Amino acid sequence: MMGSDFFYRDKIPVVILGATGTVGQRFIELLAVHPWFQIVAVAASERSVGRRYGEVVNWLMASAIPPEVASLEVLRCEPGIPGSIAFSGLDSSVAGEVETKFAEAGYIVISNSRNHRMDADVPLLIPEVNPEHLELLKVQKFGKGKIVTNPNCSVIGLTIGLKPLFDRFGIELVHAVTLQAISGAGYPGVASMDILDNVVPLIEGEEDKVETEPLKILGTYQQDGEIKPAQIKISAQCNRVPVNDGHMACVSVKLKTKPKPEEMIEAWRSFTSEAQTLGLPLAPKNPIHYFDEKNYPQPKIHRNLDKGMCVSIGRLQDCPILDYKFSLLSHNTIRGAAGGAILCAELMVRKGYIFW
Ligand code: NAP
Repeated sequence: MMGSDFFYRDKIPVVILGATGTVGQRFIELLAVHPWFQIVAVAASERSVGRRYGEVVNWLMASAIPPEVASLEVLRCEPGIPGSIAFSGLDSSVAGEVETKFAEAGYIVISNSRNHRMDADVPLLIPEVNPEHLELLKVQKFGKGKIVTNPNCSVIGLTIGLKPLFDRFGIELVHAVTLQAISGAGYPGVASMDILDNVVPLIEGEEDKVETEPLKILGTYQQDGEIKPAQIKISAQCNRVPVNDGHMACVSVKLKTKPKPEEMIEAWRSFTSEAQTLGLPLAPKNPIHYFDEKNYPQPKIHRNLDKGMCVSIGRLQDCPILDYKFSLLSHNTIRGAAGGAILCAELMVRKGYIFW
């Protein structure tokens, strides 16, 4: 294998599946400077296999391609390649089957694709929200390895914003209208003629994910190895908007007990989790940042806040239909994809699910 000398035994060796894509590139950018993980292999489709990563990738990150990764040969997505953790940014047309094969072969797979998210024995994990769902790994049956999934990119931000409200006040109803960035569609994504000067009121399959995934994530882990879904009704409408990175959501909620506005804000501002107390490298200092400024949050200004890992909320107002409404923002390829997946792996290392 080209670049096989690039192997540090003091870090956990990882392979990136779908390394040439939008999420794959973000993995490389974040992992290149990670204190615990070392990229030892990159894999993608037949289009890229056998060529050096730096020659085949259309690199779109603001930082330079790490030279030690640029020189790696792109490998076929088949078990047997180096690495013990497989971070997957694979297209969903192939992710399900490939990820199953890697888990069966003994890899710890952390996936960004939809394919395994709703499998009964697969954690749909947000480290700050449902770390106890990692218990599912004890009953998971993929052979020697494991699969953990990252939720949908809009769902991650939304569910982090809902979590403190769910815990303190209870939630009955949620209505969410998302405004999603074009990088969420991968590269080259939506044609410029379709998205410039426009809003596209369709992202195939997205509304169903926003309406169902939070129920599993906020669900209760039961001792028999099942998740009892949260009893919340969610209605979502998802739109593609001409923003590069950063998904927004305009959210209305009906709570079981209606708090004062200042109690809502306090719940968000004081929200913290094990990811923070364990000092995980990619954990944001505060998972949620609430803005008092009336015209915040905005994607262009706030998407990179706290390493791109925190959720920004603002504009809390009374809702004449439900109880409250607010605006929420999170970075779709960092918090909503590669960064979120790396944080899952960090939590698994610290909690003893990944040994090295
Ligand atoms: P993308 O830019 O289209 O990248 C897809 C990757 O999959 C590329 O590396 C591609 O390799 C590889 N691939 C495609 N067909 C393959 C095959 N038959 N065998 C092996 N590799 C194959 O997509 P993306 O936006 O990064 O999204 C990747 C996954 O993450 C999707 O499931 C998506 O739903 C999910 N996701 C995306 C975001 C986001 O904000 N973009 C957020 C959360 C989750 P080649 O370059 O060699 O073709």
